[in-house]
Amino acid sequence: MVAGGVIVLRYHEIALKGRNRPFFVRRLSDHVARVTAGLPVGAVRRASARLLLPLADPAAWPEVRARLARVFGVANFARAHEVPLGPRDGDPGAAISRVGTAIVGALAGTTVTSFRVDTRRSDKQFGLTSPEVNRLLGAAIQAATGARVDLEHAALTVGVEVLPERAFFALERVAGAGGLPVGTSGRVLALLSGGIDSPVAAWRMMRRGCRVDFVHFHSVPFLDRTSQEKARELHRLLLPWELEADLFLVPFGEVQRQIVTAVLRPLRVVLYRRTMLRIATALARAIGAEALVTGESLGQVASQTLTNLAVIGAATDLPLLRPLVGMDKGEIAAEAARIGTYETSIIPDQDCCQLFVPRHPATHARLQQVLEAERRLDVAGLVELAVRAAERVPGRFPPLEVRAGAAAAS
Ligand code: ATP
Ligand code: MG
Repeated sequence: MVAGGVIVLRYHEIALKGRNRPFFVRRLSDHVARVTAGLPVGAVRRASARLLLPLADPAAWPEVRARLARVFGVANFARAHEVPLGPRDGDPGAAISRVGTAIVGALAGTTVTSFRVDTRRSDKQFGLTSPEVNRLLGAAIQAATGARVDLEHAALTVGVEVLPERAFFALERVAGAGGLPVGTSGRVLALLSGGIDSPVAAWRMMRRGCRVDFVHFHSVPFLDRTSQEKARELHRLLLPWELEADLFLVPFGEVQRQIVTAVLRPLRVVLYRRTMLRIATALARAIGAEALVTGESLGQVASQTLTNLAVIGAATDLPLLRPLVGMDKGEIAAEAARIGTYETSIIPDQDCCQLFVPRHPATHARLQQVLEAERRLDVAGLVELAVRAAERVPGRFPPLEVRAGAAAAS
C-alpha cells in the first residue's frame, strides 16, 4: 500500500463520448500526469471510468488536491485508502471489520459530528450486500467516534468500494472542474484585455476542451504598461488550468494613431476592434488556432450593441466565439472571483481603447461608413506591421524551472 493512499478520479461527460472515448481518456490521463509533475505521485493508471493516481507522501495532498481541482474533464475525486480483504472464500464479516478499523484509524484526531457510509460493491461475489456493509461499518464508526448517523445531511460521507480481495475507502470527495479535457476541442486564440470579462471567456472555452492562447493589444508608449502587466498576470493565473499557453503582446498605439487620422471619433472604437480582430486572425492562422474568442456581452457597453457586434465580427472570417454574450456583469464577476482572476482584473489600468476616443462612441456603426473609413487606411499594412512587432510570451505550468529541478532531484 502506498503511504498517502491512491487518488481516485472520476470522469463524467467524457464517459459519454462513444468511440472517441479512448482519445478523451488519454488526454485526461496525460493532463493529470503533467499537472502533478514534480509532486510525489506515482504513474496514472486507468480503471473502469476512473483514473488512479498513487500518492507517495500524504503531506503533498493539499497541493495535489489544488492542482487536480483544475483539471477539466474530472467530475470529482477522492483520496482513497486500500485495505486488503483476504481470500474471497474468507469470512466477509471479519474482512469488513478490518476495513472499519482502518477507517477509525484514519479518523483519529478529527471531530466527526454526523456521518453516513456509502458503499459500492463492484465484486458481486462478496459475501455481504452494500447495505449490510454500510450497517457494519456505520456501527464501528459510531462506537469509536460517538458521531451520529445522518443519511440526509451528513457532515462526513465515508465512501467505500468493495473490489475482489480489497476495498477502498475515502473520507473526502472533492468536486472536479467538469467540462472536457483541454486539447480535445482544438485550438482557439482569445483576445485578452485586462478587464473582467475576457479571462472568464477564455476560461469557459478551456472548460469546453480548447487549448486557448492569448493576444493582448497595448498602447505603450502612448499609454503606460499597466494593461500589459495585467495581461501577463492573467496569463499566469490561467495557466494552471491548461498547462501550456502563449501570450502575444501586440503594440497597437501606432495602428491607433493612423486610425484617428482617417476616422471621426464616434467610429474609432469600432475600427480599433475590427483591426484587433484582423491582427488576431493573422496570429491565429500562424499558430493553427481555428477560432477567436472575446469577452463581449450583448449590450454591456456602447460598443457591444447588436449592430456593433455585427460590424466588428465582419472583420474576421474565422468563427468568433463570444461565450459570455448572454451573461450579466454580476454573473461574470462572480465567475471571475471563483476562477481567481477578479482581483487582478479590477486593478486600474490604461486600456488601449481609451486612447483618442470620445466618451460616447457610436452605438450603431454603419458598415458602409466603416468600410469607407477603412478605404482611407492601409489596413493590410497595419496588420502586417502589428503581427511583426508582436512579442510572444510562452507559458508553461508547472513552470519549467520547477520541473527541471524536480527531474534533477529524482
Ligand atoms: P473586458 O472586461 O474583457 O475588457 P469589456 O466589457 O471591457 O471586456 P470591451 O472593452 O468592449 O469590453 O472589450 C470587448 C472585448 O474585446 C474584450 O472582452 C476583449 O476580448 C477584447 N478586447 C478589448 N480590448 C482589448 C485589448 N486591449 N487587447 C485584447 N483584447 C481586447
Ligand atoms: Mg475592457
